[in-house]
Amino acid sequence: MTLNSLQKVNKAPMSEHPEDPIYPVPARLLDPAQCPKPYISSLEQYQQLYRQSIDDPSTFFGKLATELLSWSKPFHTVKHGGLDHGDIAWFLEGQLNASYNCVDRHALADPNKIAIIYEADEPNQSENITYGELLRQVSQLAGALRARGIKKGDTVAIYMPMIPEAVVALLACARIGAMHSVVFAGFSAEALRDRVQDASSRLVLTSDQGKRGGKTIETKKIVDEALKNCPSVETVIVCQRTGADVPMKAGRDYWWGDECGKRTNYLSPEPMHSEDPLFILYTSGSTGQPKGVMHTTAGYLLGAAATVKYVFDYHPGDIFACMADVGWITGHTYIVYGPLALGATTVLFESIPTYPTPSRYWELVAKHKVTQFYTAPTAIRALRRLGDEWVEGHDLSSLRVLGTVGEPINPEAWHWYYDKVGKGRCAVVDTFWQTETGSHIVTPLPGAIPTKPGSATLPFFGIELAVLDPVSGKELEGNNVTGVLAVKKAWPSIARTVYNNHQRYLETYLKPYPGYYFTGDGATRDKDGYIWIRGRVDDVINVSGHRLSTAEIESALIMHNTVAEAAVIGANDDVTGQCIHAFVCLKPGVSCHSTDLNKELVLQVRKVIGPFAAPKKVYLVEDLPKTRSGKLMRRILRKIVAGESDSLGDISTLADPAVVATLIAKVANS
Ligand code: ATP
Ligand code: MG
Repeated sequence: MTLNSLQKVNKAPMSEHPEDPIYPVPARLLDPAQCPKPYISSLEQYQQLYRQSIDDPSTFFGKLATELLSWSKPFHTVKHGGLDHGDIAWFLEGQLNASYNCVDRHALADPNKIAIIYEADEPNQSENITYGELLRQVSQLAGALRARGIKKGDTVAIYMPMIPEAVVALLACARIGAMHSVVFAGFSAEALRDRVQDASSRLVLTSDQGKRGGKTIETKKIVDEALKNCPSVETVIVCQRTGADVPMKAGRDYWWGDECGKRTNYLSPEPMHSEDPLFILYTSGSTGQPKGVMHTTAGYLLGAAATVKYVFDYHPGDIFACMADVGWITGHTYIVYGPLALGATTVLFESIPTYPTPSRYWELVAKHKVTQFYTAPTAIRALRRLGDEWVEGHDLSSLRVLGTVGEPINPEAWHWYYDKVGKGRCAVVDTFWQTETGSHIVTPLPGAIPTKPGSATLPFFGIELAVLDPVSGKELEGNNVTGVLAVKKAWPSIARTVYNNHQRYLETYLKPYPGYYFTGDGATRDKDGYIWIRGRVDDVINVSGHRLSTAEIESALIMHNTVAEAAVIGANDDVTGQCIHAFVCLKPGVSCHSTDLNKELVLQVRKVIGPFAAPKKVYLVEDLPKTRSGKLMRRILRKIVAGESDSLGDISTLADPAVVATLIAKVANS
């Protein structure tokens, strides 16, 4: 099928290929009686705009930047530099301030509009913060930072739970031109210390404690431990989340309330050049040592705003709920900068999907009448595993767009999301992007692009994709090709450097395939031109010359009705070069001791993919190693299987270090 015939699918909800189902845009989204008209409401319209964005990016993005952002000084040059020299720049000469764009302009228009719905750990404790209030709080904290000597260009570390002050913290830094470096508050003292040191942070914003899933987290104590070895930090400002009595170091630690209470309710925003840094953020560390990715002001903010508008089809009055933590790029772009730049109401969720019950997400959607809901495959798989009864019986009728991000979504999990949560009436957007890309780069648009479960579909505006032969680096033209995913030209929200290490930036992203931005992910462009992310290039398994994707084999396993989650890796094999080892978590109540089940799982893969993909070993396990953002860390499994568990590399980003010992024992005993 070609894109042309996909256009027909857009109108006729039928797939000619049951084995490769295509889901048209849900009719409800295109019915003006039921939903606001999508900004992009047909495949033709998407294609036309996409073409413009590639053929004439200066006109396309110049117009978008004028429409979506407010400038204190206009830009004249839309783009300059590029991937060849790593000197990317957008909107030169222009000046703007991210906090002005995310707060002031909306507060001035309607101070009573709700900016943040804070859904606290305890379900009965939600709270609304208006744009007017947000402007006061951001100004006060910005004033407090200045009073403590923080100026434009300094770095401020933020290590905070998911409370409104965390959002205030990001915006206050942006207001005075300080770079924030948010460290996910689930990280250990050592991981925090490394990131504070690497970024030379001068001040730390934190809280007394945190609350998550009914548990108390000793946030301030972790900060104290981390700062034993961080000479760059002069000041710590501590927000009260629980009111616990925590030690305060004289001359270094101050209370948030005291510091802000002394400041004025309005502090004028620092005018920033388009290319002035906005923040540093460390990658999740799935593949190795985290990188301190740096984003600049205008391009990043434009990417954030444009994707909330077009990928989530955000309309005024919508309630936007991204379930990520603000400590990850998804939280930065889709809790804070994107929604607030558009003047939206954004939901800040402090808890976890299973607290107090696995209905928490759906109660949240019903309670706040959420229109866009965004989460990760790991959460979808976990909830699917716990059973449908938790999602049934909640009023989810407000939802229009369901987003997923973080890993390839297994078609099985996609279907569950689409059917059980979306009731077949919502668009599912499988958004592929990275900390480095700043905002979505491959994704469906809800009103325009028919979807296929497991495919991130088509490129966003301005993204010129290439699938490259991994060895020769040559571009694989046409459809039905598999290789590594790269981008041919710089787009506004691409990261500009790795903090203090431009060499690493060049070597990681721009030099592997000169002239291209290298994503590090494998991808297939299918017969319709749709992109399927196949997993990390580092994770690719080569069995007798067949290059197999982890995503594909794992999805085959998860199709078996006993399987909740799976991770596969390549192990050395004398005959085939590499062979496949599969780690499988079963759904609750399934016995894990059956050898028949092992055989069945192997058969399952043979049937779905082919005999060459059959796992040589299947381990039934309780848990898999994941990053703190919920991604599978296959490199840990690879090391364990190879008998190299004494050299696991950087494991500071591992969510639960205890799983390592269990897995080592499991592999040793099998
Ligand atoms: P590190 O770079 O330190 O290894 P990381 O790559 O996990 O960490 P992120 O920037 O948070 O850090 O994640 C980006 C990666 O997540 C992508 O490169 C891709 O592998 C995966 N990913 C994100 N969204 C999707 C998606 N929709 N489909 C498939 N994979 C995705
Ligand atoms: Mg990465």
